[in-house]
Amino acid sequence: MSIAMETERVAGTTIDPGQLWIDGDWTPAADGRRRDVLDPATGELVTTVAEAGAEDVARAAAAARAAFDDGRWSGQTPRQRAQVLLRAAALLRERAEEFAQLESLDVGKPLMFTRMIDIPTVVDTYEYYAGLAASLEGATRATSLPAHAYTQPEPYGVVGAITPFNFPMILSSTKLAAALVAGNTVVHKPAEETPLTALRMAQLLQEAGLPDGVLNVITGGGDAGAALVEDPHVDKIAFTGSTTVGRAVAAAAAEGPKHVTLELGGKGANLIFADADLDAAIETAIKGFVFNTGQFCMSGSRLLVERPVYEPVVAALRGAVEHVPVGDPFTDGVVVGPMAGPGHLSKVRAYLEQAAAAEVEITSGPEPTGSGFFVPPTVITGAAQDSAWVQEEIFGPVLTVQPFDSEEEAIALANGTPFGLAAGLQTKDVARAHRVAGALRAGIVWVNGWALLDPAMPFGGTGQSGYGRENGPEALAEYVRTKSVVINLG
Ligand code: NAD
Repeated sequence: MSIAMETERVAGTTIDPGQLWIDGDWTPAADGRRRDVLDPATGELVTTVAEAGAEDVARAAAAARAAFDDGRWSGQTPRQRAQVLLRAAALLRERAEEFAQLESLDVGKPLMFTRMIDIPTVVDTYEYYAGLAASLEGATRATSLPAHAYTQPEPYGVVGAITPFNFPMILSSTKLAAALVAGNTVVHKPAEETPLTALRMAQLLQEAGLPDGVLNVITGGGDAGAALVEDPHVDKIAFTGSTTVGRAVAAAAAEGPKHVTLELGGKGANLIFADADLDAAIETAIKGFVFNTGQFCMSGSRLLVERPVYEPVVAALRGAVEHVPVGDPFTDGVVVGPMAGPGHLSKVRAYLEQAAAAEVEITSGPEPTGSGFFVPPTVITGAAQDSAWVQEEIFGPVLTVQPFDSEEEAIALANGTPFGLAAGLQTKDVARAHRVAGALRAGIVWVNGWALLDPAMPFGGTGQSGYGRENGPEALAEYVRTKSVVINLG
């Protein structure tokens, strides 16, 4: 089924954006409600999507329950399930351009990056978890019982996968690929701002051989997410989003009680030591905070610089923000696109207005023109450790820079927020690299680089960044529970 999208930007896509994807088919929301999807680069309407209500969520969860209980998916062997994931990856490779354009249109990401990073990462993720299918096995255990004792992994059942707006395809693929290969069925609720590729991906997985009902996609807002968390058919919640909503999700899931993983906000510290390759470190620092327009949970949004190189680094950053290409994501050479929605734009602008009125120094790039949701890359110096700019997740292209005088002080400043998702350091001293990486409170630490991510390498949080892991065998383990079988031989 295909409905013409109200845009010239993505020709030939076949989603029906006005409907939900339940039990392998398009279906309208029970009460017919719809929500606008805007083009962040212009603020104009792209299309409208169905707005799921409680009745639709219940329908999707019941479809996923039935698909789990009759064994149409969990009854297949892990390697059979892996074949479906591999076919999906192959189809996605063929349709890469369509998906890249749809994602760029929906999120406002520069097309260069959706082509180079988002789509290849999703392909890689499906292939990686297909490869891990063979690891879904148990073990015999040496016990002191007169028994043959073994363990076996089992899928949880129905997974509610709730994702944010910033990396729609990548973040849904880490959940879906691991959950599906483990034998679970899924109800996926993408973010209300960026629902388009989730709908298209559901269709593609069906084409790859995923049985109907195994993946259901409900578009809608926070109330649909909340209904999904509470639905009695749902056994496990995999949530990525803000810390505030994550807390509410964990509290609601505790009623089940349901197994929950929470991938939440971050405030990544990037440490530049004086011995670093400074040109490379400055380039890394810039990429670290402008990547994805700063809408990156692992953004390097706090730069800590050793005193002897503080002034030259700040001068280089101030110069650089003037020249970062900001603009329409479909224009060649653009590195920073718009914020994904008007709400995020106002939130980031409010931080900048407060900074302009405070005793801190700010340098912003040229103010973008047009009606899109743009914010210029901005560097803030002189902000105190306990200030909002240092402590709170701004989620835009905004960098604070602070000096430090010793390794101990750098670690204390880096660890001095409630978050603990990603951190990094730039240094040529190998011993320091290991020492500081061990001391930084973060789920992932990069040395001499930033955002070095791979489906094999787990990431996740500590503190207010949440718990649980995405990627790697660790994420697969989040989607199975262990059953012990003890056969009395006596
Ligand atoms: P958000 O928390 O506002 O929304 C995330 C999802 O939760 C959306 O689908 C939303 O509709 C849904 N939701 C809202 N209220 C809900 C409720 N009461 N119950 C259930 N679901 C509900 O986050 P966002 O603004 O879309 O995304 C930005 C946030 O996500 C940032 O804080 C960012 O750091 C975080 N994030 C974290 C990671 C990670 O891996 N740790 C990755 C990407 C983004």
